[in-house]
Amino acid sequence: MPGRENLVRLLDGAAEAAVKNLFGLSRQQLTVLMSDFGQPAYRAGQLLDAMFRQRIASLEGVSTLPRGLRKVLLEEGWTIGRSRIVETFRSVDGTERYLVAGHDGQTVETVWMPGGDGAERGDDDAVDGEATRRATICVSSQVGCAVNCQFCLTAKLGLQRNLSAGEIAGQVIAVLERQAVQVGRDRINLVFMGMGEPFLNYDEFMAAVRLLVNEAGLAESRMTVSTSGIVPGILRLATEPVRPRLAISLNAPNDAIREAIMPITRKWKIDDVILAAGQLPLRPRERVTFEYVLLGGINDGLQHADELVALARKAPMPVKVNLIAWNPGPGIAYAMPAPEQVAAFQQRLIARGVPAFLRRPRGRDIYAACGQLKRTVSEIQPAISSQ
Ligand code: SAH
Ligand code: SF4
Repeated sequence: MPGRENLVRLLDGAAEAAVKNLFGLSRQQLTVLMSDFGQPAYRAGQLLDAMFRQRIASLEGVSTLPRGLRKVLLEEGWTIGRSRIVETFRSVDGTERYLVAGHDGQTVETVWMPGGDGAERGDDDAVDGEATRRATICVSSQVGCAVNCQFCLTAKLGLQRNLSAGEIAGQVIAVLERQAVQVGRDRINLVFMGMGEPFLNYDEFMAAVRLLVNEAGLAESRMTVSTSGIVPGILRLATEPVRPRLAISLNAPNDAIREAIMPITRKWKIDDVILAAGQLPLRPRERVTFEYVLLGGINDGLQHADELVALARKAPMPVKVNLIAWNPGPGIAYAMPAPEQVAAFQQRLIARGVPAFLRRPRGRDIYAACGQLKRTVSEIQPAISSQ
């Protein structure tokens, strides 16, 4: 095939060898591919529109492309290859948890939470007088996770593999399609807080963000990436022209507690993490979020709240705190904090001038809440099965 070497150079070697998926390729990569097939650059735009705006999942359905071109692409082994929702679990609170399969059949979890994530009040729900829907989609970045936080169920899987940009963005498009979301009208937040550590898969994660912003039309200001505190990743994020908001899973008010529950602290101390976050050129009214999982008897005392206040005050950027009461999981020996302890902790932060929100647990009954994502199939029956 003429010019094929160009593409091979452009594509990541591993991805190219494994599958010929169109979904996940950037505009530049698709343009090169189209020129390899003797096609003008606008074909790349047609493909992106079909995959990201019309959410078409099979090449045969892309009616904007000439029939002959579709045929040749298929003959050459190209497919759209978007991730598929293979199982759906629905919570009593409306949350849905999906198992989403990538090209090799490995699944990750994606969560749909109608009405936002409950951590903050959103803006009003009307655009041009029409009713809009609000929802948050929680997206995975890796199969499993290598970080090994002691309180997190995903850690039990270890790291199986990184997701590709297409597999990360594909989770979002598959859910938007399932929920018949109207981008531009409905208020959709994305949180990269599912399985995995996004900053240990930085390039693919950021490529997915760019596709979702540039090609699907989702707002970068409505996206949040959560990291356990990978300093090089935070510093790279600070240089990105298009980027999500930043949340740091602090989870402890000092390095001693943090090290006991998050081994990553051995490499990067709290001060280094906060200093790195201070490099972000924040947008107007933007704050960096400190996430703080309250573990009963470990980090939920008022003295811990006071230490956290001190950290927030000396941070070089405006911060807010999202408190999450620990969600239990099989085989994890922590205790849920007492509800009055959670309330007292939050009040202490607020009284000392640190904005603090309590994240409502969502979908605990279907293992969809924070830190419960582990492809949990055996323990519960799916409410609905799709595809
Ligand atoms: N790996 C990234 C993003 C995914 S975890 C990170 O750690 O930031 C998303 C959030 O869930 C993190 O803030 C994490 O601290 C929190 N979390 C993990 N396990 C939890 C559990 N069992 N209960 C409540 N929150 C948990
Ligand atoms: Fe990985 Fe985040 Fe879980 Fe820690 S909390 S093990 S970084 S997914």
